[in-house]
Amino acid sequence: MALMITDECINCDVCEPECPNQAISPGEQIYEIDPAKCTECVGHFNEPQCVQVCPVSCIPLNPAHVETPQQLLAKFHRLQAAKTAGAAPAPVSASTPSAPAPVPADRPSPAPPGAPPRA
Ligand code: SF4
Ligand code: SF4
Repeated sequence: MALMITDECINCDVCEPECPNQAISPGEQIYEIDPAKCTECVGHFNEPQCVQVCPVSCIPLNPAHVETPQQLLAKFHRLQAAKTAGAAPAPVSASTPSAPAPVPADRPSPAPPGAPPRA
């Protein structure tokens, strides 16, 4: 079951950075929890982190989003897979030649063959 934030929220901001799923965001009036991202912290922690830090205890279970522990764990795995896919670095080609070192502009050009040695 996802959690929800009630209108007792005082917008203190402390819950948002604690959420391991980035499920909490500022709403128009008060902070909100995205039920598609809230796993009750299943997969990360034993207790909902937002509930632990909320000074006014305004984060109850959301009765509109009833989920079993197995469903919450499945949601956790989906979110992790999406995060991993989004964070994958661009592949680096091993055959890409490195750029030649720049030649300083004030460096004298080499003498042509047969030219007398410079003084
Ligand atoms: S219970 Fe956990 S996952 Fe859900 S909103 Fe709170 S901190 Fe985020
Ligand atoms: S910790 Fe509680 S009071 Fe503070 S912003 Fe989050 S829900 Fe609102």
